Amino acid sequence: MPPQNPPSIDEVLATIAERDGELNSVVHLFDPPLPPTGDGPLRGEVLMVKDNIAVAGAPWSAGSSTRLGSPATFDAECVRRVREAGATIIAMTNLDEFAMGASTASSCFGPTHNPWDITRTAGGSSGGSAAASAAYAVATLGTDTGGSIREPAAQCGVVGVKPSGRQIPLHGVVPFAPTYDVVGPIAPTVWRTALLDDAMRCTDELSDAVQRGARGSLSGMVLGVVTQMADHRNSLEVRDRFAAALDACEWLGAQLVEVDVPNIVDSLSTYMTTTSIEAIPVLEEHAARGPLGEEAARRLEHALSVEPAEVARAVRHRRELNAQLRRIAAGHDLLVSPSMPIVAPALSRPGLDDPLAAPRTDWWTVEANIAGLGAMSLPNGRGKESGLPVGLQLMCAPGTDARMYFAAACLEPHVA
Ligand code: GLN
Repeated sequence: MPPQNPPSIDEVLATIAERDGELNSVVHLFDPPLPPTGDGPLRGEVLMVKDNIAVAGAPWSAGSSTRLGSPATFDAECVRRVREAGATIIAMTNLDEFAMGASTASSCFGPTHNPWDITRTAGGSSGGSAAASAAYAVATLGTDTGGSIREPAAQCGVVGVKPSGRQIPLHGVVPFAPTYDVVGPIAPTVWRTALLDDAMRCTDELSDAVQRGARGSLSGMVLGVVTQMADHRNSLEVRDRFAAALDACEWLGAQLVEVDVPNIVDSLSTYMTTTSIEAIPVLEEHAARGPLGEEAARRLEHALSVEPAEVARAVRHRRELNAQLRRIAAGHDLLVSPSMPIVAPALSRPGLDDPLAAPRTDWWTVEANIAGLGAMSLPNGRGKESGLPVGLQLMCAPGTDARMYFAAACLEPHVA
């Protein structure tokens, strides 16, 4: 079982001084750290926050040069809640510009490197949070519009959760696509993600579920294996690890059934079209302040030039997939899939070396955002070819996140 206790602030500062020169996960260090404003379950937790979430005094850059020079003057509501629950905030983390991307390559601070292999991407857009969590054993906050918490968590070998529903307010979060955006935790263990998630939702049911799960089994649970997410489009080493995780689920007593979601085809283009259109106001507002980076500019151009017929198709498909996935999720205790079809791609040329690498990382994550499901990436060992972390994705019907945490806690010692 991974260590459950957070490191001390001094330990974290020492490892940052040693490693962040090469990793580039931190974009701002609070000196001195921001103390908690209350006492609660997060007492002793050392926290870093993605820099699209407001923390008073942070750059609040969202990875964009257009936002530099006007630091946040207040704490986002989710930040206020975790500080009140006892967390100490020590740093802000790197991200793709406006959280658009899957590698942090579009950040105005330059990319974050993967702690397991610095020639590889840490993933994105919450790449700084996931890399810091893996390298410094800190808990972090991220945001997930189409996979931005789960993808970097999978690539860095930590736990990342996209909560279902809207219990965590978006107040103080730089918007990307507001009907998709959610805030969620990334941390080295299921327990620490649950504590953070609970604090942000003002509940305690998730950490309760983890305590029960760590002592429990999956017997009586029916897990749906999504056929389309488990097929040959995953690399061989990802398929191997997924098969091993399914064995662990069965050994723990779960019943596995195959589920077909034919509408998944095209989900990425549906996601891209609908999110780009939602992002128009925020992109136009920032374009008026200074030049956007390449990726953000490309999305704005796409949004402004997309054919009405494509918008109509995407909106219709979003609605159909939402209904279909919710129905399927509600018919099973959980759905399972690999978090990503590949391990972390090379950083030098994401999308150039391998033109399919960048969008491929989003293949199995956007569906949970489209349907509003809860979803988690759990470390699932290392690929036997690359030796790099692989993630297992658990997805749950809206409002059943406690069950997902229960299963994750039960599985954690058997798959990591
Ligand atoms: N990689 C996806 C994108 O580029 C998801 C980003 C996110 O979840 N913020 O849009």
